Amino acid sequence: MKQDTKLIHGYNSEDPRTGAVNVPIYQTSTFRQPELGHHLGYEYSRTGNPTREALENAIAALENGTHGLAFGSGMAALTTVLSLYSSGDRILISKNVYGGTFRVLDKVFKNFGITYTITDTSDLIAFEKEITPDVKAVLIESPANPLMYITDIAEISKISKKHGIHTIVDNTFMTPYLQRPLDLGADIVVHSATKYLGGHSDVVAGLAVVKDEELAQRLYFLQNATGGVLGPFDSFLVLRGIKTLGVRMDRHSSNAQKIAEYLSKNPAVSKIYYPGLESDPGYEINRKQASTGGGMMSFELTPDYDYRKFVSSTKIIALAESLGGVESLVCHPASMTHASIPKDIREREGITDNLIRLSVGIEDVEDLIEDIENALEASKVA
Ligand SMILES: *Cc1c(COP(=O)(O)O)cnc(C)c1O
Repeated sequence: MKQDTKLIHGYNSEDPRTGAVNVPIYQTSTFRQPELGHHLGYEYSRTGNPTREALENAIAALENGTHGLAFGSGMAALTTVLSLYSSGDRILISKNVYGGTFRVLDKVFKNFGITYTITDTSDLIAFEKEITPDVKAVLIESPANPLMYITDIAEISKISKKHGIHTIVDNTFMTPYLQRPLDLGADIVVHSATKYLGGHSDVVAGLAVVKDEELAQRLYFLQNATGGVLGPFDSFLVLRGIKTLGVRMDRHSSNAQKIAEYLSKNPAVSKIYYPGLESDPGYEINRKQASTGGGMMSFELTPDYDYRKFVSSTKIIALAESLGGVESLVCHPASMTHASIPKDIREREGITDNLIRLSVGIEDVEDLIEDIENALEASKVA
């Protein structure tokens, strides 16, 4: 089955009892057991719920994994995955990981003795040198925002396998429609389904997928033990979003490509980061592992433009956190999405104060470009 069909039919997407073409929202916490010691597959909704299970099967099918797990947020998914490790273990993370991922490692897991090291995962030799016996996993994002750093998922997975450590890929930005890390050798895929998978900026959710039975059982144990599960209604919303993921990602990608080309020729723009541009350092590797450059980009304006004014001047494109919804959003990483990263680390990683990030929506691209043009006009310095 091809990915576009799988999005709609690739899992138990119907209700066998009634023929309803959507999975019902099983809004129940508990399930009646016909006799002692015998239940109908569900006992208590933290442990298992049919609506959540449909979503878990859907993401497993889409990522070509064997098991999926749904959580109350992307951070709950990441926290559960990181709970696989113990005091004394070290996790390598790629530069520019999501601010919340950095924060939970730096402010929560560190207190439990699990440490981290920020590593340049685009430099494979340097990466391999970092793998000492205490390193148990590498956590990467490709692209990693806001500078859209690309990491070669297949090469990192190969090196990690050689050293017996897990490769964890946060695939939020690409989604399984554009990139499938498990096929490239990764062990665990994590998503903030709040973004493209949900797709409509109306739900906060997280997912994890594996292709290994033992790892799956350990994660199921942790999901039930720590309890950050996704509710039935939110599971339904993500399932609904997934059905249109293909058409949305196609439009996000083609709009973003056109906007990136427009910005790269605009004298107001001094730097642009988009892996779909041939001039981008990650272009070749991204092309090898993903079908498009995705829907996210960042850029810097020249000093002739006031970035504060620019982000407040767009009319269609809203100034807001988050990404991946049908509506275009603009954000200022240094003060918004990446504010939880200390300024010195931020600047060292290239997240300057005049960096602007765009989540390109599925509106008409000509309207979006006109909106950007007008905002540039309004933000010219004298
Ligand atoms: C948003 C995001 C997260 C966190 O997900 P929540 O659903 O907000 O908890 C993790 N990783 C990436 C790449 C994200 O964009």
